[in-house]
Amino acid sequence: MTYDVAIVGTGPAGLSAALTLKLHNKEILWLGSAVGSDKIEKSEKIANYPGVPMVGGSELNRIFRKQAEELGIQITEKKVTNIAALDDKFMLLADNDMYEARSLLLATGIPAAKGMENEERLLGSGVSYCATCDGFLYKEKRIAVYCTDSRMAHDIDYLEEIASKLYVYTNFGYSSDSPKIEILNKPIIKLGGEMKADSVELSDGRRLDVDGVFILRPTIAPSTLFSGLELEGAHIKVDKNQETSYKGCFAAGDCTGRPYQIAKAVGEGSVAAHAILEYLSESDKGSAHAE
Ligand SMILES: Cc1cc2nc3c(=O)[nH]c(=O)nc-3n(C[C@H](O)[C@H](O)[C@H](O)COP(=O)(O)OP(=O)(O)OC[C@H]3O[C@@H](n4cnc5c(N)ncnc54)[C@H](O)[C@@H]3O)c2cc1C
Repeated sequence: MTYDVAIVGTGPAGLSAALTLKLHNKEILWLGSAVGSDKIEKSEKIANYPGVPMVGGSELNRIFRKQAEELGIQITEKKVTNIAALDDKFMLLADNDMYEARSLLLATGIPAAKGMENEERLLGSGVSYCATCDGFLYKEKRIAVYCTDSRMAHDIDYLEEIASKLYVYTNFGYSSDSPKIEILNKPIIKLGGEMKADSVELSDGRRLDVDGVFILRPTIAPSTLFSGLELEGAHIKVDKNQETSYKGCFAAGDCTGRPYQIAKAVGEGSVAAHAILEYLSESDKGSAHAE
């Protein structure tokens, strides 16, 4: 099926847009973590979000989830690893599934970490963000995994079944008895290889020869997620309607720039939702004329 809108990111920007779009009876595909915002979950106390006095981050996420559930808005718990524009539609690859939507809202927040050296150049050439999509390419091969999202620990287990040797760096204390796994105490900071990734370098200078590298972070840089999207520094460039350089593709929240605040994310999500409604209505009128 073709959704009216695909929303990538279940933080406050995505939620705010989802609420408005749902109230206008749009078919929404809402992709991201079932918890909601990872950032809010980590916040100890939030004192500046209007209407909810001094609240713990986890509690605010619970309130946000409840509001979505009450309107019957479902989260599809998947990570989007690639987006492409095709004619007047957007194709999204999330884990192993493809989705199609008439419009798109990027509400992905900002990646906590900078990419590794050579990561962008070697992505798709021995470097992958999706274990279940690309793991089979590395059967009986040496794989390095850099994982900073504890919800993706099962992907490491999956790669362990496939690989002949697995080097694993995590920031959340992953452990395993498997003789195939070597846990790395230092992070991978650089990828090596000309046409294809063939090694990784750790922060202590140690180099490991590998056949493939899996980078599993909660958020992917917008330029990598949707190639060709116009940026302003690390942020997605938008106009006053939150529309990006791609017609029909909108962005809201931290991914469009500072201040990184919940109230700003919610406001931009709302502006984007109204612009998306306008866009869908214009596109319906265009199709009616063409018939
Ligand atoms: C420790 C801490 C304390 C904070 N305290 C406050 C405060 O007191 N007040 C305040 O106003 N702000 C605070 N903030 C900032 C606030 O959390 C952010 O500004 C806000 O959450 C941004 O909302 P967002 O929807 O843009 O992005 P996020 O909340 O970051 O949500 C984006 C979501 O998208 C998901 N996602 C990203 N990429 C993908 C993908 N490819 N596929 C699927 N899902 C994806 C992520 O997993 C994430 O859950 C704090 C932040 C931190 C880290």
